[in-house]
Amino acid sequence: MPDHTLDTLVEESHDLLPAAVDLRRELHRWPEQGIHNPITRDRILESLESLNLGVTRHTTTSGVAALLTGALPGPTVLLRADTDALPMPEDTGLDYSSRVERTMHACGHDTHVAMLAGAARLLAARKDTLRGRVLFMFQPGEEGHHGARFMLEEGLLDVPALADGTPSPITGAYALHTTSAAHTGVIASRPGPIMASADRLLITVTGRGGHASEPFRTIDPIPIACEIVQALQTMVTRRIDVFDPSVVTVARITAGTTNNVIPETAEIEGTIRAVSERTRSKVHDGIKRVAEGVASAHEASVSVEIDYGYPVTVNGVDAANFGLDLARSIVGPDRVATLPHPVMGAEDFSYVLQRVPGAMLFLGGTPWDKDTATAAPNHSNRVFFDEQAMVSGMAMYAGMALRHLDTQP
Ligand SMILES: [Zn+2]
Ligand SMILES: [Zn+2]
Repeated sequence: MPDHTLDTLVEESHDLLPAAVDLRRELHRWPEQGIHNPITRDRILESLESLNLGVTRHTTTSGVAALLTGALPGPTVLLRADTDALPMPEDTGLDYSSRVERTMHACGHDTHVAMLAGAARLLAARKDTLRGRVLFMFQPGEEGHHGARFMLEEGLLDVPALADGTPSPITGAYALHTTSAAHTGVIASRPGPIMASADRLLITVTGRGGHASEPFRTIDPIPIACEIVQALQTMVTRRIDVFDPSVVTVARITAGTTNNVIPETAEIEGTIRAVSERTRSKVHDGIKRVAEGVASAHEASVSVEIDYGYPVTVNGVDAANFGLDLARSIVGPDRVATLPHPVMGAEDFSYVLQRVPGAMLFLGGTPWDKDTATAAPNHSNRVFFDEQAMVSGMAMYAGMALRHLDTQP
């Protein structure tokens, strides 16, 4: 594909910015949580209406899968935007602040929807020369609700053959994620693991309650729980390879009711992060071993529950390099960064990347006159995303699809 097409894409994205800003602000005012985002879905359907796409409304979630079929035969490429917001108040003071109590688009998913809807417009306008198809995935429930997994289970990837019966399998999948950790329009990614797995840990230590003045007649679960917390940190630093790291954070420890009662139980809750499935399972085993060992040393019993969250998000090496390379043409080489290491946050786009080679790329949204080190981060009640970044985002989404399809055999 000659590069002038990319220049045109950026120009056209500029023209689409006012519409993208309108849509983004509308979503920002009326954010929705979880796997059912009906208002957001309606706005998405409205914005795609005139584009003549094959739209599938999912039923287990409010997900929307929209298929654009080009005039020329070829495979299918998937582009993802997530649609949900977070359960938190907004304190940005913006005039388009959330009108919904305790709900805020603090992770920029409103910008993702607006950018992907814009990209759909850019790509639909190129239908006559498009080689293959583009599947637009609008997915709710990214913030811990496994929305992508639900959409996969509902057959997202089972795209039909072309009208003449030629198969058109999905050969690539791409997602952008807005971040305040980079300046407006900067694209950052890396080949290999880009985001961590995230599992929830709940440990319950059960001893024997009694009078706080006579601990020897009880089995006090509190010091045992404290010992487990310390031992978990030793396990992580001593038994896990620093170059294939893990984070185990105990974020809550709860026990007891008053000063003169030894309680029967103590609870420890936290999160487990890893950037390889190997380390992830090694840490799970280590936590069980350590908790059981410490508890049994003190004649207490323990239960360890690990709720599996999102797997590690692993970018394909070729797909990530392809995205970064394209970004050099779209935003300029000085605005592209190859991340030295993964980010310990998690993403359910990981489920898509387990099935289709592809990549997730970050798109910076902190204005250039602000310091990214001190800017309110994603998930902050004060986070601010510069809407100008959506120009690069729309051009990137569309460019990744076009170039992917043009370089397929
Ligand atoms: Zn988030
Ligand atoms: Zn997010």
